[in-house]
Amino acid sequence: MSHQKITDAVEAAWDIRGSVRRLAGENENFLIELSDGEHFVLKLASEDSSRERILLEHVGVEAVFESGLGVALPRLVPDHEGSVAATLDIGGNSPRLGRLLQFVPGDAWGGKAPVSPDLLTELGNLIAQFSRALSSIDHPAAHISHNWDLAAAGTHRSSIRLVADNNRRRLLATQFERWAAAAQDLATVPAGLIHGDLNDENLLISDGKLTGVLDFGDCLHNPIICDLAISLAYVLLDEPNPWQAGARVVEGYHAIRELSTLELELLYPLICARLAVSLVISAKRRQIDPERAAWYVTEARAWAFLKQHGDSDPTDIADQLAALIDLRPYPDRGGSPSELLASRGAVTSAAQSISYSNPVKFVKGRGAYLIDERGRPFLDMYNNVCHVGHCHPHVVQAGQQQMARLNTNTRYLTDAHIAYAERLAALFPSALCTVFLLNSGTEANELALRLANAHTGHEDILVVENAYHGHTRKLIDVSPYKFLGPGGKGSPESWVHVVPVPDGHRGVYKGDTRETGIAYGDAVGSTIQAAGRSIAAFLAETLLSCGGQIIPPPGYFETVFRHVRAAGGVCILDEVQVGFGRVGSHFWAFEAYDVVPDIVVLGKPIGNGHPIGAVVCTREIAQSFEALGMEFFSTFGGNSVACAIGQSVLDVIDNEGLQEHARTTGAYFFDALCELERNHTCIGDIRGRGLFLGIDLVEHDGITPATALAGKVVEVLRERRILTGTDGPSKNVIKIKPPLVVTQADVDRFVWELDLILHRERTGSG
Ligand code: PMP
Repeated sequence: MSHQKITDAVEAAWDIRGSVRRLAGENENFLIELSDGEHFVLKLASEDSSRERILLEHVGVEAVFESGLGVALPRLVPDHEGSVAATLDIGGNSPRLGRLLQFVPGDAWGGKAPVSPDLLTELGNLIAQFSRALSSIDHPAAHISHNWDLAAAGTHRSSIRLVADNNRRRLLATQFERWAAAAQDLATVPAGLIHGDLNDENLLISDGKLTGVLDFGDCLHNPIICDLAISLAYVLLDEPNPWQAGARVVEGYHAIRELSTLELELLYPLICARLAVSLVISAKRRQIDPERAAWYVTEARAWAFLKQHGDSDPTDIADQLAALIDLRPYPDRGGSPSELLASRGAVTSAAQSISYSNPVKFVKGRGAYLIDERGRPFLDMYNNVCHVGHCHPHVVQAGQQQMARLNTNTRYLTDAHIAYAERLAALFPSALCTVFLLNSGTEANELALRLANAHTGHEDILVVENAYHGHTRKLIDVSPYKFLGPGGKGSPESWVHVVPVPDGHRGVYKGDTRETGIAYGDAVGSTIQAAGRSIAAFLAETLLSCGGQIIPPPGYFETVFRHVRAAGGVCILDEVQVGFGRVGSHFWAFEAYDVVPDIVVLGKPIGNGHPIGAVVCTREIAQSFEALGMEFFSTFGGNSVACAIGQSVLDVIDNEGLQEHARTTGAYFFDALCELERNHTCIGDIRGRGLFLGIDLVEHDGITPATALAGKVVEVLRERRILTGTDGPSKNVIKIKPPLVVTQADVDRFVWELDLILHRERTGSG
């Protein structure tokens, strides 16, 4: 495209004639200088920009202009037909859309640091005034996302792999993780039209004053706070005391538009996320054109900044940013973990266990993250209770609304109770049609045992080695994990019969074939025969968590159920840990086997953390129980709030496709772990289904449980802010059962950290 053509095209559209010079930068911008010294900028629209977007920019610029801010802006000059953009014939294959803007004089802020405190305050004022002028504009073309959309920064997370250096990748992972933990809050703070790119090249200074703002091209509907975060991300880069400088900007902003404590909390994660996005985009661009210097102006500075400030305590930074304003971010952080631990020791029993040698204090939960009192997110890889994500807004709202309307018990007719029971029952095979609602997995298992006893008239219970089913006296008696564990009384009660764990890796029968499953099933038959007594029930988890994340081989339950039913017993499957879509392929784990249990026990994920338990059984079993004549009542079981929350959990599983997500993310996780297994001989087995996985760690012989190693891995992961635990009789299995909202990027992070830990263990380094 020749400059002569551009000159002519500009004259044709705007009746002005001047010399043409291409401006530096990413976009196709040209400076038009008239003979009288007046300047304009011709902007050629990129292929993806539409007239609507151009119109939106125009509306945004005019709104800021109208607000009387007093800085020069790239105001649009309509063409002689009054249109915001003209179709220009400037050579090339087809005409181009172009617009003429008023030239904004001044020097870019970039390269001027350190700047005066007054200028920083002025910047804060300006960003807030932008927010005031823009945020109420609602325009369809604003509801888009683009590469630099800070509210969608997570989409760049998987590109971390383009960065070769391990430390740098970890640094980026930290930023994206903090962003992911903040995303839920980001969705709740005020949003509106923002400039979208108030970076240090778009802020112009003359004589030490802010005199102009450029480039509204990235404007979009976003959390309003993003404009402040984006600007800070750039102007703080070269400041010797960035947070002190940032506090000035925040002070200036707060004077015009009051920040909330939540917005203050979000600033640091957003500032760092913006830099991480910039770095990832640079890494992508290097693959396209490593020579194009304009693409990398921020790169070195951003790395230096993140290296120094990218792994700080968010509460410290928020405090520093808020130092000059009367607002205390993180109002809920409370005392230190050590203080709390001391008070806990004084007020609770030492029997109440606590995780990790360095216990963690949490003040908030978001999605797959728990956030400590220093604002640092921990990736939660094993708390299966918060099934649809910690503090899921839909669940929270359902509970709050129901609590405000009605909360009563099942002695009255309530829609909440019956609607929920119906919805739950509909998720089961038709034979399982009667629902009892309780308050915990323990209570549900207790009731299940009573139902079995009522229906069969028998007492004896078959349980699996190392199983855990609850904490009451009766359930401890049927939980080998407890009665054979520390403080247990050793041998089972005479009415409890322990059957082998169907573990194809370590158990008596090896493999995961149907033959193995049948062999383990027949072992239950042998136990029944040896006992020589009538059986009330077989009680087992469908997949055995305490047993070591064991997946029973095919044919197992089919065989067991046959033996148990022949002995007059009923079959109870405890799906407290594995139900509600966790296994991915099915909603209930038992559906992967060709069986229908007589009683199913539910807990943990059912209420996403709200205490709910449930028993679902056949009509016949319920009738036998009714025939005893004793009423069934649980004060809180089935209360209106619990039912509303239970409904909301099912809503989220449906709405967010979490069962399918568990299937795909679980398969991705499984494959990544198998890859790791190939590189580390201390991994003896990877097993699992969906997002219920186990990593079996072994000694050099390939089979002896590596208990100490597993314990150490869990502790080191905790120091890396990843939460897991061990399970299995030898406590050598790392258990993985995260909230179902965990992402592939979270999985990558876990696998990568585990790889590093195991590598260090092997080489003795670090
Ligand atoms: N069954 C299983 C399989 C469990 O894992 C648990 C709890 N860990 C329970 C029952 C008991 O549930 P709760 O703690 O809700 O009483």
